[in-house]
Amino acid sequence: MIDLRSDTVTRPDRAMREAIAAAPVGDDVWGDDPSVIVLQERIADEAGFPAALFFPSATQANLAALMTHGQRGDEFIAGQQSHLYKYEGGGGAVLAGLQPQPLEQEADGTFCLARIEAAIKADDIHFARTRLIALENTFQGLVLPADYTARVTRLAAARGLATHLDGARLFNAAVASGQSLANLCRDFGSVSLCFSKGLGAPVGAVLLGDAALIDRARRWRKTLGGGMRQAGLLAAGCLHALDHNVARLAEDHANARRLAEGLAAIAGIEGVECATNMVHVRFPESRRGGLTAALRDQGILAECLPRTRFVTHRDVSVADIERVIAVVAGHLRAGH
Ligand SMILES: *Cc1c(COP(=O)(O)O)cnc(C)c1O
Repeated sequence: MIDLRSDTVTRPDRAMREAIAAAPVGDDVWGDDPSVIVLQERIADEAGFPAALFFPSATQANLAALMTHGQRGDEFIAGQQSHLYKYEGGGGAVLAGLQPQPLEQEADGTFCLARIEAAIKADDIHFARTRLIALENTFQGLVLPADYTARVTRLAAARGLATHLDGARLFNAAVASGQSLANLCRDFGSVSLCFSKGLGAPVGAVLLGDAALIDRARRWRKTLGGGMRQAGLLAAGCLHALDHNVARLAEDHANARRLAEGLAAIAGIEGVECATNMVHVRFPESRRGGLTAALRDQGILAECLPRTRFVTHRDVSVADIERVIAVVAGHLRAGH
């Protein structure tokens, strides 16, 4: 199967499985799993933070970040289409007791500073206390403009607000933009990173912050059921990914560009957009019905929505990309 639904579908290869099998382990709830400790120290160092904490998922890392930055009755500002607001089961409201203040985003994933200013509530008993601004990088594959993140973090500092960056795909942003991870993280109070997307680990995410923030997050992680015992098995997969799977994200980006080119050349396909490892397209409505099933019949997995997303990753080859282009072209030509 050529699975373009998401980069979460990547499976650990033999070398990663061997690294996992060989990992020294301890009890991480007691704080003595050596592999988890190595991962946390290494990623904190690379990202330029004093501390890091290993999580089972980026969803839980984001939730723990919300709980750590705010308390019941506080509010966080996030993009209307952001993962943190839209795709995490409402955890911020349901479990953290924070009111979300979603803001409409531009096509490039940003929301303008005036909109943030207007959303920040005055200190008045009628209002939730605006506490945090959360950005996402990459957003639907797009790398946020560096000057934009700097302006948002400056605004937050000026208004006494905390900042969080959902960096589930921040490694893609680093590889695509040539910026260091530390540069992309600069000035954020906390950052979450995910190892089970393009990096190909089976499980794992981290939250980055200063020592006090990470101490508070560790309490919330326990509360949320995220304290894991011999978690070094999982951390070893993440360490292996850091060694072997970061620079190669450039191949996924090249494959996405080739896919976008190939699809854009097919009559009837419109609105082709390519950013890092994601391609978005609009198929003619008359041909979209049946396309998901037709692709599946040819061993290609993708959900053909009005705005269809294809995601490239390490389990999709150059030859796979050519095949997808040919199958889609064939389907549209045949006029199913
Ligand atoms: C996938 C994703 C998450 C959640 O990651 P999980 O590890 O699957 O929980 C959070 N934010 C963004 C932007 C994501 O793409």
